[in-house]
Parts: sequence; structure tokens; C-alpha cells
Amino acid sequence: MASTIFEKTSSGRKGYTLPVNDVNIKLENCIPSEFSRKEDIRLPEVSELDVMRHFLELAHMNHCIEKGFYPLGSCTMKYNPKINETLARNDGFNNLHPYQEEDTTQGALEIMYELQKDLAEISGFAGVTLQPVAGAHGEFTGLKVIKAYHDFNGNSHKNKIILPDSAHGTNPASVVLAGFDVVEIKSNDKGLVDIQDLKSHVDDNTAGFMLTNPNTLGLFETQVEEIAEIVHSVDGLIYMDGANFNAILGIVKPGEIGFDIMHYNLHKTFATPHGGGGPGSGPIGVRKDLVKFLPTPMVNKQDNKYFMDYGNAETSLGKVHSFFGNFAVNLRAYIYIKMLGTKGLRRVSENAVINANYIQKKLEKYYNIPFKDQYCMHEFVASGVWQKEKYGINTLDIAKRILDKGYHAPTIYFPLIVPEAMMIEPTETESKETLDDFINAMIEIAKECEENPDLLKNAPLNTPVRRVDDTLAVRQLNVKFEW
Ligand SMILES: *Cc1c(COP(=O)(O)O)cnc(C)c1O
Repeated sequence: MASTIFEKTSSGRKGYTLPVNDVNIKLENCIPSEFSRKEDIRLPEVSELDVMRHFLELAHMNHCIEKGFYPLGSCTMKYNPKINETLARNDGFNNLHPYQEEDTTQGALEIMYELQKDLAEISGFAGVTLQPVAGAHGEFTGLKVIKAYHDFNGNSHKNKIILPDSAHGTNPASVVLAGFDVVEIKSNDKGLVDIQDLKSHVDDNTAGFMLTNPNTLGLFETQVEEIAEIVHSVDGLIYMDGANFNAILGIVKPGEIGFDIMHYNLHKTFATPHGGGGPGSGPIGVRKDLVKFLPTPMVNKQDNKYFMDYGNAETSLGKVHSFFGNFAVNLRAYIYIKMLGTKGLRRVSENAVINANYIQKKLEKYYNIPFKDQYCMHEFVASGVWQKEKYGINTLDIAKRILDKGYHAPTIYFPLIVPEAMMIEPTETESKETLDDFINAMIEIAKECEENPDLLKNAPLNTPVRRVDDTLAVRQLNVKFEW
């Protein structure tokens, strides 16, 4: 383990020179004395070179997409083009203030307007809000739209949202947060929505249905039109969790096959950086009669001028975030969409799907693939049940061994309906050589399970931190460094 920067301290060593203070204000006049520090703060005393080496060493210990393959299913860890960063750092964007006069922010407003329009066009919806700042936040906003719709129509009794058992954990959490009750239905033996089970749970209290498509098994839900008919027959709305939109860009428009609302994870599908909890962006799109419920303001255009439109104030569910969402994240997604264009976006999905199918096919002899009735989409779920039954190796052991091979592990033990699940998502940005290397590593691991199971039980062997006690870490979480 590396020592902390504090432990590298040597009294009197300095890595900075502060500019001369040319502001004629006394600090004690600005900060009330009860808030001012009584003793000098203890800061690390290190040279500039110490600091550089320290942080570079930490960065090397970490895994990131720039360092290696990152097949973390459901998270779409694609490469984020650096031009997005360069352009987002432009002073013209960086120095904007949300309270500036609209005359002076026409460029930024145009970008938001165009992004609303592009997302609506790509997904087949009538209106888009950019305010939500995560996928889960989009879910919450979409569910509040469902609530506003039913209240508006005098159907406030509708209190149930139906979800399949393959749903991402954020779905039921958002349902509860938005004030609804969760009704869970089963997936069928093909890994898709069980229509009979859906029918038996739909009634007058059904407010809506949430479906991820492609679903979390990496399978395209082929029965959306039938599902829409069932849910609409009781005036319920269908919400699409669009976190897996990366698989169907330019191929399927969710708004045209029966979905009423969807969220986009710009930080997954549209190449804005993510991980570590943010910042993200989770806009939602809705069908025409639901636009009036979206959060205000929307960006609109009249007489060649862009403006913040508060026109829906009467029917809108209100604001869901300060100002206008995560502008700098939305800006990166805008650049990505404009650079790729219609054809480029379609190729993203085609390549993401081919890459996932390639790995799945190459690994099917070595790992159990529970759902193979149809081709997978941009990701697939393998299972470690063979390894567990034959050699007593858990999926957790396999995931730890993958770290030794220089990769980030896939998502494991999700979706919950697959025992010993490993959810592998390569994304479109990886080359065939990278995929082949990963496939070989996975085959090597399958052989190690047979020949040297202890190796897996003790993995990882060559990471900076060896296997941690997850249970203890959860019970006695302590992330505070004491000096
Ligand atoms: C990532 C993800 C979410 C949640 O998105 P966040 O941006 O992490 O809040 C929801 N559903 C699915 C299927 C996802 O993969």
C-alpha cells in the first residue's frame, strides 16, 4: 500500500508559492470570529515532485478505461472522447452563470435546445427535459410525470407500478420514493416479461409499468406492443428505463413502439464520463400529451431567439434540480451526438451488439449462458454455476481473478434472477484484439478453476489491495484518515 500524502510530510518542505495578496481586505472583517480557525491547520508539507509522484502512484493503482478493458455490465464503460473535455473547458462555457441575461447566453441555450431536440428525435418522443442528473433521478422524474398525469385526470387512486423481477435496483427504489407501491412480476423461461403474469397483476389501480429494454439480461423485449396494449387498457403508462439505449440507437425508437416515457443515461450511452458517483445526466423524454407535466423551465425558441420557457408552470410537476441540470455533462453528450450524426450513432449500437455476441459465443463452452434463445444485445449474462458445482469456485472468486489479469471485473450477482451471474458489457469502443485477450483470460480462468482452485480462492494476487472482507467493511465502514 502507498502511504498517504500526510505521512510523506517533512517539516518546512513546500510545494507551492502563493501569489502576493493585492486585495486590501482584512480576513477578520469577512469571517465572523466564531467561524475563524483558532489554530493553524495541519497540512502535508511536501515538495511539488512528492505531490506529483504521490498522485500518479495512486492513479496507477486505480483502474480506468484509459488503462484497460472495463466490461462492467449495465454501466456502459465506453471510452469518452477527449475532444468533449477540451471543448467543455472552453471559457465561454466555464464562465457562464445561470442567472445571466438570456441575451448573453444564446449559445448555451441553443446547445440545450438542440440536445432536447436530438434526444427526442433519436428516441421518438415529443418533449425532453434535461433537468434530472442521473438515471435514477430520471426514473423519479418520470414516475412523478405518471403521478401528475393520473392526478390531472382525476385518477389519484392509481398507486401501483409494476416491474419485472429483472429490474435494476434503482427502479423499485424510485417507485417508492415517488409515492407508489411496487408490484413485481416474473420473467418467463426466455428471460422476457411473462405476459400472463403481467395480465394477472394489471388492474384499475395500475399507474404504470417500468421496463428496461434491452433488459438487464441483455435481451431485447420483443413483446412491447402487446405489453403497451395491456397497460394502456387500464390507462396505465409505460416507462422505459433507457440505461441500455446503447444497444438500439438509430435502430429502435422507443416512443414509436409503445413507450410513453423514458430516461437516457447520458453518462452511459452518450459518452460523458462517469463512475465514482457523478456528475451524470438522466434526461427524460415523454409523449406529446405528457410534455405539459415536465419540469420547468424548458428551453424554447421563438423569432430566432432561445429562451427559458416557464409556460407549463400550471401543470408542471415543478423543478427536480437547481437551475437547468448538469450543463457541462449535457454539453459533452451534445458534442458526441453532433460528431457521430445519425449514421455514427447507429454504428455505435451495431458494434456494441457485435462485440457482446462475439464474447458470448467464444465463452459459451467454458461458462454457462442461461438465456440463449435469442442473440444478446450490447451485453450478456453468463453464470458461474458450472464452476461452483464442479470445483466449489464462486463467481466472486472468478471476478477477483479477473483483476489479476488486468481487467475490471464484470458486474456480478446481478441480475438477481441468474445464480452466480456475471454481466459482461464490452461496449463498441473496444478492438477485436482487446476482446480476444479478454476471452483468452476468461478461458484461462476456467482452466485454473479445474487445475488450481486455490489460486482463485486467494485471488487477487497482484493488485495493490488483496481481497477485502466485504462483510466487515459494510458493518464497520470507516473511510476517515486520522493523522
Ligand atoms: C445505470 C442504470 C440505472 C441507474 O442509472 P444511474 O445513472 O446510475 O442512476 C438504472 N437502470 C439500469 C438498467 C442501469 O443500468
